[in-house]
Parts: sequence; structure tokens; C-alpha cells
Amino acid sequence: QWQPAAKLREQFLSYFEEKGSRRYPSFSLVPDDPTLLFTIAGMVPFKPYFLGLKTPEVTRATTAQKCVRTNDIDNVGRTARHHTFFEMLGNFSFGDYFKAEVIPWAWTFLTERVGLDPNRMYATVYRDDDEAADIWRNSVGLAADRVIRLGEEDNFWAAGPVGPCGPCSELLYDQGPAFSCGSPDCAPGCSCDRYLEIWNLVFMQFNRDEAGVLTPLPKKNIDTGMGLERLSSVVQQVKSDFETDLFRPLVDKACSLAGVSYGAGPGSDLAVRVIADHLRATAFMIADGILPSNEGTGYVLRRLLRRAVRFGRLLDLREPFLLELLPQVEATLADPYQELLRYRSTIAQVVDLEERRFGRTLEQGSDLLEQEIGCTKRSGGKELSGEVAFELYDTYGFPVELTEEMCSEAGLSVDQKGFAQAMERQKERARASSKQTCATMGSNAYTELADRQGPTVFLGYEMEEARGTV
Ligand code: ATP
Ligand code: MG
Ligand code: MG
Ligand code: MG
Repeated sequence: QWQPAAKLREQFLSYFEEKGSRRYPSFSLVPDDPTLLFTIAGMVPFKPYFLGLKTPEVTRATTAQKCVRTNDIDNVGRTARHHTFFEMLGNFSFGDYFKAEVIPWAWTFLTERVGLDPNRMYATVYRDDDEAADIWRNSVGLAADRVIRLGEEDNFWAAGPVGPCGPCSELLYDQGPAFSCGSPDCAPGCSCDRYLEIWNLVFMQFNRDEAGVLTPLPKKNIDTGMGLERLSSVVQQVKSDFETDLFRPLVDKACSLAGVSYGAGPGSDLAVRVIADHLRATAFMIADGILPSNEGTGYVLRRLLRRAVRFGRLLDLREPFLLELLPQVEATLADPYQELLRYRSTIAQVVDLEERRFGRTLEQGSDLLEQEIGCTKRSGGKELSGEVAFELYDTYGFPVELTEEMCSEAGLSVDQKGFAQAMERQKERARASSKQTCATMGSNAYTELADRQGPTVFLGYEMEEARGTV
């Protein structure tokens, strides 16, 4: 039966509170961890406890954690289930409960609390993990053909080449043949949307040394993660995460601004999904104190905003439009994440400034490109020079995908090899002058904004402190 995402989030957290876990508010998207740009999973803020570097105050914790994953950016809008920003529901055991508890708990939560059909579910386990397979078969009572053994890539987790690691077990939900990629090999474990991976249970039970030898850890840990958007799409029986109540108001508003209807075609659907996804990510990144820049988290923010604007252009949205969508981000997520309201004006100013600035870049770049396309065609060429494409990209910040698109509309291709060579030459120049620091493009406007909004950014840290640590 249909349930709102807000209810699923709350049900999850209270279920694990019943199991004795302390509920923590989501930690920041910017982790206190030099090895990571973003919080990519619910376990990230707890890493010091898993690694034994700090002693936790409690042994059981649960969170709905804001996450950003940039490795999935090209999947966004193309699969039903990948986002740059998403919420990960998790429960954690620091040397406390282990497989025998967590597997039946996860099963009971999904089948009894949430009411998912047990006949559509599969469990994957690591190929050597007889213990987990046995719990699925005998404690949960899953049929043998529903317990799938997979290899290292899917079902073995490690924080790095050396250190705590262990097998994992994932819960898949069969969405039916209509979701299949159609390959004859499509089966649980396939990367298409049919056997949707909803929950990953990680059993951190070994330490791996330099020689690759695994020794059992004295204290075994549990780390689980389930995407709220995916759980919602299954419960709400929609085709993709973008049709759940977490996204629908945002997607609908983007459609109405663009004058298209959702489902009208793959091109426009992709564009509205990318816009909706990237704007959510953007708003949360700014709320956690990130500002656009040319490196690190700020560069990711800038890239997401620019991608959103560019996909807007594909929908013929030529005037700034992102600001008009921010109320829908708030409508869907401000209730659990008050920072969206607290930093509302900063979010709006940053989005607007960046969008207008990029709009000008696009205009300048387009004019230049049109001239170049004209020259190329007049001289009988079929290909835009890689040098020109690179200069547009490097000097004007004009996305190369856009150059390709405009060229192909004019019947030209782009000299990719020349582009790559120009890029390589530029990198060499940069290496040669690596000692020289240069001001990032337009950093002044943001420095000013940051100055004006100084207390806002600062409050972010106070907020973290107020939450305390485990
Ligand atoms: P997939 O195979 O679908 O890419 P994953 O194996 O990379 O997922 P995990 O690292 O196991 O994902 O993360 C735990 C859970 O977080 C997943 O089971 C899924 O529910 C959710 N999740 C992971 N990546 C994303 C994403 N990009 N967008 C939304 N939810 C995600
Ligand atoms: Mg993935
Ligand atoms: Mg996976
Ligand atoms: Mg996984």
C-alpha cells in the first residue's frame, strides 16, 4: 500500500530505535575525513569507530544520512535509481549485534513493517559466506533459489586495500520483466533496474593486512545502507525514483516551466530528471557551506549547477529558471532538513548568481561557436577543429558536449583527437607552472557573498557541535 517517503524514513529510524539504537540527525555532506570529498554513505561519519580509532558512546546507532556520490553522475536520469544526492537509511553496530540479528531484522522491516511482497525479494551473499546464506535459508526461511552467491565486486566491502573489511549481503526487489534490460542473462545481480538493489548489509568481520591475509576482528561491526528514494519507488509502485513523492513536485514544476509533460519523450524526461536531481544536490551542498569554485567540493557544485542549466537549454529554458524550482526542493525536503530554510537566502543567491554567470558564458560561447561553424562550412570542412573546441572549453568554460551538440545540429563533427591533444598540451603547461597560483574565475563574487553571509557558513559548524559526537 502507498506510503509517503516521510513515513518510510520515520518508520525505519523508529524501528531501529526499538532495537536499542540511538538516532542521530544526518551529519554534514562535508565529512570530517581528508580521504573523501563528500559523505558517500551512512557509515562515513562513524568510520573512526569502525576503524577502532575512537570509542563510541553507544554500540547501536541509526541515521537517515544525506549523501552525495559523483561517480553516479552519468547514470542520473538514465537509470531509475541513481542520484548525485540521496538519503541513505542506515543502522550500525559497533562490536554489538551481528549477522544473526541484522538479517532477520532487515527482512522483518521490509516484509512486515513496510509490507513488501516476500515473493519478489532476493538476497545476495558473498560466495564464501555460508554463515549469511544459512541465516537467509534457515532463520528467515528464504528458498534456495532466492539466495544468490556473488563475487567480490558486488558482495565484499573494504574501506581500502588494508584494514577492516568483510562480506555483504544485499536485498533485491524484482520489479518484473517490464523493467528488464532484455538481455538473456538478466538475472539477480544484473545492473539494470529489474532486480532493484534496495539495501546493503555489510558484515565487517576481518582485518586485511599488507599481504592480503584476512584475520577475524575481535569486535565485529554492522554497517547497512538503504536508499530512501529506491525504497519509496518500490512502495509507491512507480517506474522510477523520480516519480515518488520525493521528486514529483519538483519534476512537475520543471515540466511546467519547460512546457513539456513528463513521459512525453526520453530526451525531455532525461533533462527534467537531471535538473531535479542536480538542484536537490546543489541546495544541500550550499546549505552545508559549500560555495562554487574551481576545485574540490566547490567545483562539483559548479559542475552540477552548470549541468542543470545546460539541460534546461535542451528544454529551451533560456532565461534563469532554477530559482523558481527551489520552493519545490523545500516542499519535498525542508521538513526533515531545516537547514534548507535556515540557509534559504544563501542557497537562492548562489544558485541565481552562478546561473546568470553561466548563462552569459553560454551566450558568448554560442556566438563564437556559430562564427566558427560558419567558417568551417564555408571552407567546405566537415569537422570543427579540436583547437577551437578546446579554446571554447578552456577560455570560455563552454561545455564540450554543447559544442558537439551544436556542431551536429549544423551537420559537423568535432575533431576529438585534436581536442584531446590540445587538452594534453594545456596540462603540460599547467604542470610546468604548477607553482604559480592564479585567482579562480569569478572567485571575487563568492568571496563577497561569503563575507556577507559569513555568520551563515559559520553556524554550520555550530550546528555540528550542538549535535555532539557519538
Ligand atoms: P548500485 O549497484 O545500484 O549502483 P551500490 O551497490 O553502488 O548501488 P551501495 O554502495 O551498496 O550501492 O549503497 C547502499 C545503498 O544506497 C544501495 O543499496 C542503494 O539503495 C543506495 N544507493 C547507492 N547509490 C545510490 C545512488 N547513486 N542514488 C540513490 N541511491 C543509491
Ligand atoms: Mg553504485
Ligand atoms: Mg550494487
Ligand atoms: Mg551495493
